[in-house]
Amino acid sequence: MKTLIDHGLLLTVDNGKIIPDGSVIIDDGVISYVGESVQDKTGFDRYIDARGGIVMPGLINTHTHSPMTLLRGCGNDLALDEWLNHHIFPLEDKLDDEAVYYGTLLGCAEVIASGTTAFADMYFFSESSAKAVLEAGIKANISRCVTGTHNDYKKRLSEARQLFKDYHGAGKGLLKIEHSAHAVYTCSREAIRAVAEAAQEDGTGIHIHLSETMKENRDCYSKNGKSPTEIMRDLGVFNVRTNAAHCVYLSENDMDILKRYDVSVAHNPTSNLKLASGVANIKEMLEKDINVSIGTDGAASNNALDMFAEMKLSGLLHKGMRLDPKLIPAQTALEMATVKGAKALGREKETGMLKAGLRADIIILDADAPCMIPVNDPVSAVVYASAGGQVVTSIINGRIVMENRELKTLDIEKIKFGIMQARKRMGL
Ligand SMILES: [Zn+2]
Repeated sequence: MKTLIDHGLLLTVDNGKIIPDGSVIIDDGVISYVGESVQDKTGFDRYIDARGGIVMPGLINTHTHSPMTLLRGCGNDLALDEWLNHHIFPLEDKLDDEAVYYGTLLGCAEVIASGTTAFADMYFFSESSAKAVLEAGIKANISRCVTGTHNDYKKRLSEARQLFKDYHGAGKGLLKIEHSAHAVYTCSREAIRAVAEAAQEDGTGIHIHLSETMKENRDCYSKNGKSPTEIMRDLGVFNVRTNAAHCVYLSENDMDILKRYDVSVAHNPTSNLKLASGVANIKEMLEKDINVSIGTDGAASNNALDMFAEMKLSGLLHKGMRLDPKLIPAQTALEMATVKGAKALGREKETGMLKAGLRADIIILDADAPCMIPVNDPVSAVVYASAGGQVVTSIINGRIVMENRELKTLDIEKIKFGIMQARKRMGL
């Protein structure tokens, strides 16, 4: 199968290269050419006319809990502690396999429709999430989240390891299974160490929450005399590729540890603002050359999964906080949402740029829309002016999953019905 995407404005994210009138050729799911518009347009199975469009790599959401679409709008305007313990955890106790399956499908529909082609997901009933992701045809790093203060973590970890055996690499690599220790405040040291050892044995990565709130940090220091980052390091978590969400309260020493172990940070500005957790010191992390990517967090704390909104906020928030308009330029925000996300997911040899040899994870934006005209600067158009609704076509692993805003792999009416039934079972 050979596809030609032709006459688009190519935003490659490959060393900032932009091609005003270019072609991308996809050969069996792999990008084989990125350059000026080709003269010979014969020999292709499929021709996509991208005139008036911006062609770019799909965005990568490095921290979410996609089934939480079911809980969208539950428990607003609260601090994390109260939100989690009094609103979210009681509702999550009522979830079942089918609810998580439809919640993940809804999450996949939302993220595909807003230009995301890969995401990192941490939750439970994860086999249902894996099935939904394969059905959607999107890329995901899924982990069965381990929590537990005593021996209760063992059953959860054994489910996580079974998930790894059954689904790692499924869908020709669409799925990666990672391991996950939820956070220092929900896991015993023993649980965290066991997760770290499992990831090392399975040869996979780890997804964690780290220093999300001031309370988490204070409690951790008073209980252990160490920061959450030091605890995670001491228990061996950082010996494998780690994707650490939030990182709002890092000391200078914590940042040095993350850099030394090449830990990626998933910046979740909307969730951190909504739960009043604070604002991560992204300026200092970037100065230390830490790999900072972007996540939406779950739909219960965002409340959307639109990576364009998150990319824009990541570009603006720190300028305002630090009174420095040069902080996180649009190109940096774009890289955080693409190529740096690919590294966080261990997929840097596979995705994150328009480049020959990488898999074809490509989105096309309507640059003819009123909010985009005129495209004086394509990067600023994408980062500051666009929204997820501007994405018209999405291609993952060479397969078209959305064309002219129509989802090709998912039946949204079936998903809505499944969500409605799940909500009834949960008493919502
Ligand atoms: Zn989270």
